[in-house]
Amino acid sequence: MQPIDPAKIQPVLKPEVSLRPFPYPFQAALAIASDIDRCDRSTFVQVHRYLNGTRSGLGLPISDSFFGTGKPHHMAYFLEDGRTPSEDAELIRCCLESGLIDTLHSWGAFDFQPPREEFLRPMAQRLMETLSARGLRVSVWSNHGAPINFQNLYVRTRPEFMGDDPGSDYYTADLLDNLGIKFYWGGELVALPLSNRRTFSTVFMERRHQLETIVKNFIKRLLERSATQRNPRMVLHLCYPTTLRDNHSLLQFTRYNRHPSGVWGHPTRHTLRYALDSTALRELIARQGYQIVYTHLGMPHDGSLPLFPEEDAKALESLADHYHQGRIWVATTSVLLNYWLAVHHLRWSAVAEGEKVVIRIIAINDPVTGPRIPSANELAGITFYSPRPHDTIIYLDDRVLPARAQPADTSGQPSVELDCPNAPEIDFLAHFSSP
Ligand SMILES: [Zn+2]
Repeated sequence: MQPIDPAKIQPVLKPEVSLRPFPYPFQAALAIASDIDRCDRSTFVQVHRYLNGTRSGLGLPISDSFFGTGKPHHMAYFLEDGRTPSEDAELIRCCLESGLIDTLHSWGAFDFQPPREEFLRPMAQRLMETLSARGLRVSVWSNHGAPINFQNLYVRTRPEFMGDDPGSDYYTADLLDNLGIKFYWGGELVALPLSNRRTFSTVFMERRHQLETIVKNFIKRLLERSATQRNPRMVLHLCYPTTLRDNHSLLQFTRYNRHPSGVWGHPTRHTLRYALDSTALRELIARQGYQIVYTHLGMPHDGSLPLFPEEDAKALESLADHYHQGRIWVATTSVLLNYWLAVHHLRWSAVAEGEKVVIRIIAINDPVTGPRIPSANELAGITFYSPRPHDTIIYLDDRVLPARAQPADTSGQPSVELDCPNAPEIDFLAHFSSP
């Protein structure tokens, strides 16, 4: 490398170079995170052709989840014996490869009978080894259901969950690293956008939520229910580091629900009209926030009902319009969480070298692992405002990352962007259309 004359190096002062909060030209971000309960293969294929399809569908990058074990035709990897691959196992593997599935909805659905201790761990280990052997990783875990799902991870309101308690026979959290789990949903829900741009009104809102949470927590302490206290971070930020009972750290995230019967109303693909109503989407854009929408795309489980009633289809079309018009960035759950982590914890520097603007990525200050050099994949979609986007070079170590200059956005600033992650490819679904 040519030595640089120090006299030619001028620090670029903020705000000339700054991180854009979302990939260009988006102003907010949304994922739809679906728990796979009661979803058969035919429904799964139809739903995702409609949502994700770029030719006859809406072209939305929306991912889904699977169970480790379960009844046939419920998108579980193993049958109920915990060892025989189900008829859906191959579909699940293809979906993991393409990114159409990125979430494990816990090891299984145990709503009517808790998992047997002698069954749970061997099954979980088998799933982890089977996927690892094929180079498949799952970065998101979503807890499932009723309190007798002892396999679930820690959540403040459910002392029954024991998956991360090393003293319990249901302990399996030591298998999560090898599976690739980085993020988990324990059970936190809110009805407002999170990780908003800080403005006077959002700071006011934050303070109000903090105060409400403090008052509620005080009452819980008086009632000796301290363990159920809600940390204000859970209603302000999309993601927060959480130490499980075995000292394992993961990033827990909060999901969004809006439902006529309140935040805990049971969401399905027939209630998307509420979560995605025009007011909710406008609010998300105005606050430049994040939303991971809680739903069950496989429900209702009744073939005589339309796949998407008109109101829900309209809400999804409106979301697709926001996405294709460059207002709301729709991404799969794992892509959105990964991006959130990178953009909120990126360390970088920028200097002017002659006519060039040189940005160096230093690290991601990952709250779980500590500072580390990110992979190029983790930086996908990262966008910097730069006064000279065509003359901006972005380095990761000594490598120049392929970047694209973008014109001025509504703030009047041009930017330079690392390519956004690809949407999951779904053509392979044609091979799986019948059960
Ligand atoms: Zn569930």
